[in-house]
Amino acid sequence: MASTAGAARAYGRREPAPEGAVLAFDIGGTKLAAGVVDRAGGVHSFAVVPTDAARGPEDAMRRLFDLGRNVVDESGVPWEQIGLIGIGCGGPLDPVSGHLIAPPHLTGWVDVPLVARAEQALGRPAVLENDATAAAAGEHRFGAGAGTRNMIYLTISTGVGGGSVVDGRLYRGASGNGGELGHVTVDWQGRECRGCGRRGCLEAYVSGTSIAERAAEAGLAGATAADVAAGARAGEPRAVAVWDETVEALACGVTSIVNLFDPEMVVIGGGVSATGEQLLAPVRERVHAQAMSPAGGTVEIVTAALGDRVGVVGAAAIAIERTAGTVDA
Ligand SMILES: [Zn+2]
Repeated sequence: MASTAGAARAYGRREPAPEGAVLAFDIGGTKLAAGVVDRAGGVHSFAVVPTDAARGPEDAMRRLFDLGRNVVDESGVPWEQIGLIGIGCGGPLDPVSGHLIAPPHLTGWVDVPLVARAEQALGRPAVLENDATAAAAGEHRFGAGAGTRNMIYLTISTGVGGGSVVDGRLYRGASGNGGELGHVTVDWQGRECRGCGRRGCLEAYVSGTSIAERAAEAGLAGATAADVAAGARAGEPRAVAVWDETVEALACGVTSIVNLFDPEMVVIGGGVSATGEQLLAPVRERVHAQAMSPAGGTVEIVTAALGDRVGVVGAAAIAIERTAGTVDA
Protein backbone atom coordinates (compact mmCIF):
# COMPACT_ATOMS: atom_id res chain seq x y z
CA MET A 1 0.00 0.00 0.00
CA ALA A 2 1.18 3.48 -0.77
CA SER A 3 1.90 5.71 2.17
CA THR A 4 1.06 9.37 2.61
CA ALA A 5 1.46 11.88 5.40
CA GLY A 6 -2.19 11.23 6.24
CA ALA A 7 -1.59 7.52 6.58
CA ALA A 8 1.54 7.97 8.64
CA ARG A 9 -0.47 10.11 11.01
CA ALA A 10 -3.18 7.47 11.23
CA TYR A 11 -1.00 4.60 12.39
CA GLY A 12 0.17 3.85 15.89
CA ARG A 13 -0.79 7.19 17.30
CA ARG A 14 -0.60 7.21 21.08
CA GLU A 15 -0.96 10.88 21.96
CA PRO A 16 -3.95 12.05 24.01
CA ALA A 17 -7.15 11.94 21.97
CA PRO A 18 -8.71 15.27 21.02
CA GLU A 19 -12.19 15.96 22.37
CA GLY A 20 -14.77 13.42 21.33
CA ALA A 21 -12.96 10.36 20.00
CA VAL A 22 -15.01 7.74 18.14
CA LEU A 23 -15.48 4.07 18.94
CA ALA A 24 -15.62 2.67 15.40
CA PHE A 25 -16.79 -0.72 14.17
CA ASP A 26 -16.49 -2.51 10.85
CA ILE A 27 -18.72 -5.56 10.30
CA GLY A 28 -17.44 -7.81 7.53
CA GLY A 29 -18.55 -11.25 6.41
CA THR A 30 -15.51 -12.90 7.98
CA LYS A 31 -14.16 -10.32 10.47
CA LEU A 32 -15.50 -7.89 13.05
CA ALA A 33 -13.13 -4.97 13.67
CA ALA A 34 -13.19 -2.27 16.32
CA GLY A 35 -10.96 0.69 17.04
CA VAL A 36 -10.74 3.98 18.89
CA VAL A 37 -10.16 6.76 16.38
CA ASP A 38 -9.60 10.40 17.21
CA ARG A 39 -10.78 13.43 15.25
CA ALA A 40 -7.47 13.67 13.43
CA GLY A 41 -7.81 10.08 12.16
CA GLY A 42 -5.35 8.69 14.69
CA VAL A 43 -6.02 5.05 15.58
CA HIS A 44 -5.44 4.52 19.33
CA SER A 45 -6.36 0.84 19.40
CA PHE A 46 -7.52 -1.76 16.91
CA ALA A 47 -8.69 -5.36 17.23
CA VAL A 48 -10.31 -7.99 15.04
CA VAL A 49 -12.30 -11.16 15.81
CA PRO A 50 -14.08 -13.65 13.51
CA THR A 51 -17.65 -12.68 12.56
CA ASP A 52 -19.06 -16.22 12.77
CA ALA A 53 -22.12 -14.80 11.02
CA ALA A 54 -23.93 -18.15 11.16
CA ARG A 55 -24.24 -17.78 14.96
CA GLY A 56 -26.70 -14.98 14.24
CA PRO A 57 -26.89 -11.25 14.85
CA GLU A 58 -27.60 -11.38 18.60
CA ASP A 59 -24.47 -13.40 19.28
CA ALA A 60 -22.36 -11.26 16.93
CA MET A 61 -23.61 -7.97 18.37
CA ARG A 62 -22.78 -9.14 21.89
CA ARG A 63 -19.23 -10.03 20.81
CA LEU A 64 -18.92 -6.83 18.79
CA PHE A 65 -19.85 -4.59 21.72
CA ASP A 66 -17.52 -6.57 24.02
CA LEU A 67 -14.73 -6.01 21.48
CA GLY A 68 -15.58 -2.30 21.54
CA ARG A 69 -15.30 -2.14 25.33
CA ASN A 70 -11.94 -3.92 25.10
CA VAL A 71 -10.48 -1.54 22.51
CA VAL A 72 -11.56 1.46 24.57
CA ASP A 73 -9.78 -0.04 27.60
CA GLU A 74 -6.66 -0.74 25.50
CA SER A 75 -6.63 2.70 23.89
CA GLY A 76 -5.94 4.61 27.08
CA VAL A 77 -8.67 7.04 26.01
CA PRO A 78 -11.05 7.59 28.97
CA TRP A 79 -14.62 6.43 28.33
CA GLU A 80 -15.92 9.96 28.92
CA GLN A 81 -13.93 11.11 25.87
CA ILE A 82 -15.68 8.59 23.61
CA GLY A 83 -18.46 10.77 22.26
CA LEU A 84 -19.69 8.82 19.26
CA ILE A 85 -20.04 5.36 17.78
CA GLY A 86 -19.54 4.80 14.05
CA ILE A 87 -20.46 1.52 12.35
CA GLY A 88 -19.67 0.45 8.79
CA CYS A 89 -21.27 -2.65 7.25
CA GLY A 90 -22.00 -4.01 3.79
CA GLY A 91 -25.48 -3.10 2.53
CA PRO A 92 -28.28 -3.08 1.89
CA LEU A 93 -28.92 -1.08 5.03
CA ASP A 94 -30.85 2.00 6.11
CA PRO A 95 -28.44 4.67 7.37
CA VAL A 96 -31.33 6.81 8.64
CA SER A 97 -33.11 4.22 10.79
CA GLY A 98 -29.86 2.39 11.52
CA HIS A 99 -31.16 -1.03 10.43
CA LEU A 100 -29.33 -3.70 8.47
CA ILE A 101 -31.86 -4.81 5.86
CA ALA A 102 -30.47 -8.14 4.56
CA PRO A 103 -26.73 -7.96 3.78
CA PRO A 104 -25.75 -10.90 1.52
CA HIS A 105 -22.48 -11.39 3.43
CA LEU A 106 -24.42 -11.93 6.67
CA THR A 107 -26.86 -14.70 5.78
CA GLY A 108 -29.99 -14.65 7.91
CA TRP A 109 -29.40 -11.18 9.36
CA VAL A 110 -32.70 -9.55 8.39
CA ASP A 111 -33.88 -6.16 9.65
CA VAL A 112 -31.34 -5.92 12.49
CA PRO A 113 -31.70 -2.68 14.53
CA LEU A 114 -27.95 -2.26 14.88
CA VAL A 115 -27.81 1.42 15.82
CA ALA A 116 -30.45 1.09 18.53
CA ARG A 117 -28.68 -1.93 19.99
CA ALA A 118 -25.29 -0.19 19.92
CA GLU A 119 -26.67 2.90 21.64
CA GLN A 120 -28.38 0.72 24.25
CA ALA A 121 -25.23 -1.34 24.93
CA LEU A 122 -22.66 1.47 24.84
CA GLY A 123 -24.61 4.55 25.88
CA ARG A 124 -23.51 6.87 23.07
CA PRO A 125 -25.11 8.12 19.84
CA ALA A 126 -24.32 5.74 16.97
CA VAL A 127 -24.42 6.02 13.18
CA LEU A 128 -24.49 3.27 10.54
CA GLU A 129 -23.21 3.54 6.97
CA ASN A 130 -22.47 1.33 4.00
CA ASP A 131 -18.89 0.15 4.46
CA ALA A 132 -17.64 1.27 1.05
CA THR A 133 -19.20 4.70 1.56
CA ALA A 134 -17.52 4.85 4.96
CA ALA A 135 -14.18 3.83 3.44
CA ALA A 136 -14.58 6.60 0.85
CA ALA A 137 -15.16 9.06 3.70
CA GLY A 138 -12.08 7.75 5.51
CA GLU A 139 -9.81 8.07 2.48
CA HIS A 140 -11.26 11.52 1.77
CA ARG A 141 -10.92 12.91 5.27
CA PHE A 142 -7.75 11.18 6.46
CA GLY A 143 -6.17 9.24 3.59
CA ALA A 144 -5.06 9.46 -0.02
CA GLY A 145 -7.90 11.80 -1.03
CA ALA A 146 -7.39 14.41 1.72
CA GLY A 147 -7.85 17.89 0.27
CA THR A 148 -9.83 16.84 -2.82
CA ARG A 149 -13.42 18.00 -3.44
CA ASN A 150 -14.37 15.34 -5.99
CA MET A 151 -13.05 11.88 -5.32
CA ILE A 152 -13.98 8.31 -6.21
CA TYR A 153 -13.05 5.37 -4.02
CA LEU A 154 -13.03 1.82 -5.38
CA THR A 155 -12.26 -1.20 -3.25
CA ILE A 156 -11.27 -4.33 -5.15
CA SER A 157 -11.24 -7.46 -3.02
CA THR A 158 -13.61 -10.45 -2.93
CA GLY A 159 -16.12 -8.12 -4.58
CA VAL A 160 -15.85 -4.54 -5.80
CA GLY A 161 -17.35 -1.68 -3.83
CA GLY A 162 -17.19 2.05 -4.14
CA GLY A 163 -18.08 5.44 -2.82
CA SER A 164 -17.96 8.97 -4.11
CA VAL A 165 -17.39 12.44 -2.75
CA VAL A 166 -19.08 15.07 -4.95
CA ASP A 167 -18.39 18.77 -4.39
CA GLY A 168 -17.02 18.00 -0.94
CA ARG A 169 -19.92 15.87 0.23
CA LEU A 170 -20.39 12.12 0.36
CA TYR A 171 -22.87 10.96 -2.23
CA ARG A 172 -25.40 8.49 -0.78
CA GLY A 173 -28.30 8.35 -3.24
CA ALA A 174 -32.02 8.27 -2.46
CA SER A 175 -31.91 5.26 -0.14
CA GLY A 176 -28.35 5.55 1.13
CA ASN A 177 -27.07 2.70 -1.02
CA GLY A 178 -25.70 4.64 -4.01
CA GLY A 179 -22.15 4.27 -5.24
CA GLU A 180 -22.31 0.60 -6.28
CA LEU A 181 -19.45 1.25 -8.65
CA GLY A 182 -18.56 -2.44 -8.89
CA HIS A 183 -21.72 -2.93 -10.92
CA VAL A 184 -20.86 -0.48 -13.68
CA THR A 185 -21.19 -2.56 -16.86
CA VAL A 186 -18.03 -3.12 -18.88
CA ASP A 187 -19.54 -5.76 -21.23
CA TRP A 188 -23.33 -6.06 -21.40
CA GLN A 189 -23.11 -9.59 -22.80
CA GLY A 190 -20.22 -10.52 -20.55
CA ARG A 191 -19.61 -12.77 -17.56
CA GLU A 192 -22.33 -13.31 -15.01
CA CYS A 193 -21.92 -11.13 -11.92
CA ARG A 194 -22.07 -13.03 -8.61
CA GLY A 195 -22.89 -9.82 -6.77
CA CYS A 196 -26.02 -8.72 -8.63
CA GLY A 197 -26.94 -11.39 -11.19
CA ARG A 198 -26.53 -9.17 -14.24
CA ARG A 199 -23.87 -9.64 -16.89
CA GLY A 200 -20.58 -7.93 -17.51
CA CYS A 201 -20.22 -5.87 -14.33
CA LEU A 202 -16.78 -4.51 -13.45
CA GLU A 203 -16.88 -6.82 -10.42
CA ALA A 204 -17.33 -9.85 -12.73
CA TYR A 205 -13.84 -9.18 -14.16
CA VAL A 206 -11.63 -7.46 -11.60
CA SER A 207 -12.65 -8.86 -8.20
CA GLY A 208 -10.18 -11.25 -6.62
CA THR A 209 -12.85 -13.94 -6.99
CA SER A 210 -13.18 -13.31 -10.73
CA ILE A 211 -9.44 -13.14 -11.33
CA ALA A 212 -9.10 -16.58 -9.69
CA GLU A 213 -12.05 -17.94 -11.69
CA ARG A 214 -10.71 -16.69 -15.00
CA ALA A 215 -7.28 -18.06 -14.11
CA ALA A 216 -8.84 -21.49 -13.48
CA GLU A 217 -10.62 -21.29 -16.85
CA ALA A 218 -7.25 -20.50 -18.45
CA GLY A 219 -5.73 -23.64 -16.91
CA LEU A 220 -4.26 -22.09 -13.75
CA ALA A 221 -6.43 -23.98 -11.25
CA GLY A 222 -6.01 -22.82 -7.67
CA ALA A 223 -4.23 -19.57 -8.62
CA THR A 224 -5.21 -16.55 -6.51
CA ALA A 225 -5.26 -12.97 -7.78
CA ALA A 226 -1.81 -12.50 -6.20
CA ASP A 227 -0.53 -15.64 -7.99
CA VAL A 228 -1.86 -14.31 -11.30
CA ALA A 229 -0.14 -10.96 -10.72
CA ALA A 230 3.14 -12.72 -9.88
CA GLY A 231 2.79 -15.00 -12.92
CA ALA A 232 2.18 -11.98 -15.15
CA ARG A 233 5.32 -10.30 -13.80
CA ALA A 234 7.25 -13.48 -14.59
CA GLY A 235 5.83 -13.54 -18.13
CA GLU A 236 3.78 -16.75 -17.78
CA PRO A 237 1.51 -16.46 -20.88
CA ARG A 238 -1.79 -17.59 -19.29
CA ALA A 239 -1.26 -15.30 -16.29
CA VAL A 240 -0.35 -12.43 -18.62
CA ALA A 241 -3.61 -12.95 -20.55
CA VAL A 242 -5.76 -13.00 -17.40
CA TRP A 243 -3.94 -10.01 -15.94
CA ASP A 244 -4.21 -7.99 -19.17
CA GLU A 245 -7.95 -8.65 -19.31
CA THR A 246 -8.20 -7.46 -15.70
CA VAL A 247 -6.36 -4.24 -16.57
CA GLU A 248 -8.57 -3.63 -19.65
CA ALA A 249 -11.78 -4.20 -17.69
CA LEU A 250 -10.68 -1.95 -14.83
CA ALA A 251 -9.58 0.79 -17.25
CA CYS A 252 -12.95 0.52 -19.04
CA GLY A 253 -14.91 0.80 -15.78
CA VAL A 254 -12.78 3.61 -14.36
CA THR A 255 -13.07 5.54 -17.64
CA SER A 256 -16.89 5.38 -17.43
CA ILE A 257 -16.75 6.47 -13.79
CA VAL A 258 -14.40 9.37 -14.66
CA ASN A 259 -16.72 10.39 -17.51
CA LEU A 260 -19.65 10.42 -15.06
CA PHE A 261 -18.07 12.20 -12.12
CA ASP A 262 -15.12 14.22 -13.44
CA PRO A 263 -13.21 13.57 -10.20
CA GLU A 264 -9.82 15.00 -9.26
CA MET A 265 -8.76 11.62 -7.96
CA VAL A 266 -9.65 7.93 -8.07
CA VAL A 267 -8.43 6.06 -4.97
CA ILE A 268 -8.15 2.29 -5.35
CA GLY A 269 -8.04 0.07 -2.27
CA GLY A 270 -8.74 -3.55 -1.35
CA GLY A 271 -6.55 -6.64 -1.56
CA VAL A 272 -6.14 -6.63 -5.35
CA SER A 273 -4.75 -3.07 -5.18
CA ALA A 274 -1.77 -4.43 -3.21
CA THR A 275 -0.23 -5.11 -6.63
CA GLY A 276 0.26 -1.33 -6.81
CA GLU A 277 1.71 0.12 -9.99
CA GLN A 278 1.57 -3.22 -11.79
CA LEU A 279 -2.20 -2.62 -11.86
CA LEU A 280 -2.43 1.16 -11.65
CA ALA A 281 0.16 2.28 -14.21
CA PRO A 282 -1.49 0.64 -17.26
CA VAL A 283 -4.97 1.57 -15.98
CA ARG A 284 -3.90 5.19 -15.54
CA GLU A 285 -2.43 5.29 -19.06
CA ARG A 286 -5.65 3.93 -20.62
CA VAL A 287 -7.99 6.15 -18.60
CA HIS A 288 -5.98 9.26 -19.45
CA ALA A 289 -6.13 8.31 -23.14
CA GLN A 290 -9.82 7.34 -23.19
CA ALA A 291 -11.72 9.64 -20.82
CA MET A 292 -13.85 12.32 -22.46
CA SER A 293 -13.74 14.92 -19.76
CA PRO A 294 -10.79 17.32 -20.15
CA ALA A 295 -9.91 16.55 -16.54
CA GLY A 296 -9.98 12.84 -17.40
CA GLY A 297 -6.64 13.32 -19.08
CA THR A 298 -5.02 14.23 -15.81
CA VAL A 299 -7.18 12.55 -13.13
CA GLU A 300 -4.98 11.12 -10.39
CA ILE A 301 -5.32 7.36 -9.92
CA VAL A 302 -3.65 6.28 -6.69
CA THR A 303 -3.63 3.45 -4.16
CA ALA A 304 -5.53 3.86 -0.91
CA ALA A 305 -3.57 5.01 2.15
CA LEU A 306 -5.40 3.56 5.15
CA GLY A 307 -4.72 -0.17 4.63
CA ASP A 308 -6.53 -2.61 6.90
CA ARG A 309 -7.67 0.24 9.18
CA VAL A 310 -9.83 1.81 6.47
CA GLY A 311 -13.01 0.21 7.83
CA VAL A 312 -12.75 1.67 11.33
CA VAL A 313 -11.21 4.98 10.22
CA GLY A 314 -14.01 5.28 7.64
CA ALA A 315 -16.70 4.50 10.22
CA ALA A 316 -15.18 7.17 12.46
CA ALA A 317 -15.11 9.67 9.56
CA ILE A 318 -18.82 9.02 9.03
CA ALA A 319 -19.62 9.59 12.70
CA ILE A 320 -17.65 12.86 12.65
CA GLU A 321 -19.19 13.93 9.35
CA ARG A 322 -22.78 13.23 10.43
CA THR A 323 -22.34 15.26 13.58
CA ALA A 324 -20.57 18.09 11.75
CA GLY A 325 -22.96 17.94 8.78
CA THR A 326 -20.22 17.91 6.15
CA VAL A 327 -17.16 15.92 5.15
CA ASP A 328 -15.26 19.19 4.70
CA ALA A 329 -15.35 20.52 8.27
ZN1 LIG B 1 -23.07 -6.79 -10.80
